[in-house]
Amino acid sequence: MALIVQKYGGTSVGDVERVKRVARRVIQARLAGHDLVVVVSAMAGETDRLLALAAQVSDSPDERELDVILATGEQLSIGLLCLAIQQNGQKARSFTGSQVRIQTDTAHTRAKILSIEADRVRQALREGAIAIVAGFQGVTAEDEVTTLGRGGSDLTAVAMAAALKADVCEVYTDVDGVYTADPDVVPEARKLARISYDEMLELASLGAKVLQARAVEYAKNYAVPIHVRSSFNMSQGTLVVQEDAEMEKVVVSGIAYNKNEAKITVLRVADRPGIAARLFGRVAEAAIVVDMIVQNISQDGTTDISFTVPNADYQKTMQIVSEVAKEIGAQQAVGDERIAKVSIVGVGMRTHSGVAARMFEALAREKINIMMISTSEIKVSCVIDAEYAELAVRVLHDAFGLAEGATVEERW
Ligand code: ADP
Ligand code: ASP
Ligand code: MG
Repeated sequence: MALIVQKYGGTSVGDVERVKRVARRVIQARLAGHDLVVVVSAMAGETDRLLALAAQVSDSPDERELDVILATGEQLSIGLLCLAIQQNGQKARSFTGSQVRIQTDTAHTRAKILSIEADRVRQALREGAIAIVAGFQGVTAEDEVTTLGRGGSDLTAVAMAAALKADVCEVYTDVDGVYTADPDVVPEARKLARISYDEMLELASLGAKVLQARAVEYAKNYAVPIHVRSSFNMSQGTLVVQEDAEMEKVVVSGIAYNKNEAKITVLRVADRPGIAARLFGRVAEAAIVVDMIVQNISQDGTTDISFTVPNADYQKTMQIVSEVAKEIGAQQAVGDERIAKVSIVGVGMRTHSGVAARMFEALAREKINIMMISTSEIKVSCVIDAEYAELAVRVLHDAFGLAEGATVEERW
């Protein structure tokens, strides 16, 4: 008998029929003799709907109140799922983040988990009940409701699995595993049987929303094996686990992209020590996270500096940067919101040469201009025009032989 944490995402509990289907699946695992903790998301679209409601009554909603509103989405799901399980004659009990005592810091809308008590969940399991836990939400030491950032139910599931020392954390979603690229964009993408925490973390951070990046990081730190699988069929999904010798043979495991960043360029900045520190210091003071930075070769003692920030911070950053540009005597700051970042990820890159060159060639063949480049040990990212994002993903998927029927020679 195993202790299993299962997590069902928004689409999986998208309507009442689907909630009933999840109930049957949970009961099936219970009848097989397992102890079950089930984490659920809000019904598909519900969190967006709640955010839109808040936006209708406030220009800049107070984050404490926003969390009070957002947490209702998951509270509805746990209650409904419990009822559906009970309707089938099985014992189930629902718990909010506060009842589980998923204690977080006070950073509303993006809180970090500090500790998990879970006494009531353990008690429910001892009594033979299935414990249903609300994803995405926690509580501060002062009993304030918090949420864990978009996609945060994944984190709840992984953190529950770590706290309870569960045998596995099963993440049920609308795809049957982690693919070499988003299957919505690349129909011939291939399902990966296994992927390392590090690669999954890069893919998730670079835009593959199948798992929340913070959840993958947590799973890595606590060595929680994740099994990503479909809630609509029984097929074996993808295991996210520690890297092993087998995995090092693949050079590129997957392609990711995201359109959630904007680019800002400060033109004709004096090329002197301290200028970049002043510019990025001011951006950092506003708690804005800068991703890529590129500085051009200097001409006539001046240079251009470009960098990217999340779309949500674009207006604020432009305002700050325009001010600083004046102070430091730069010509002006210009922005571009129509950009995308495409990335290739794979642990094998550590020991293979020519990977970046192949990426650039593939983009060049399609006449896709590269505006910025950044690399790490296991990834290469390029900023391009947003219009070509999906095309770039398909072209790169092809260039690295990632498709289902690709031959050994085509594969990297
Ligand atoms: P849930 O609501 O279950 O949390 P999400 O919508 O957050 O589900 O994540 C699942 C989606 O992630 C899929 O529908 C798919 O379009 C997308 N996705 C992006 N990249 C990948 C990838 N590499 N492999 C699988 N799915 C991916
Ligand atoms: N409901 C939350 C969201 O939409 C959390 C989640 O689904 O994981 O982001
Ligand atoms: Mg998700």
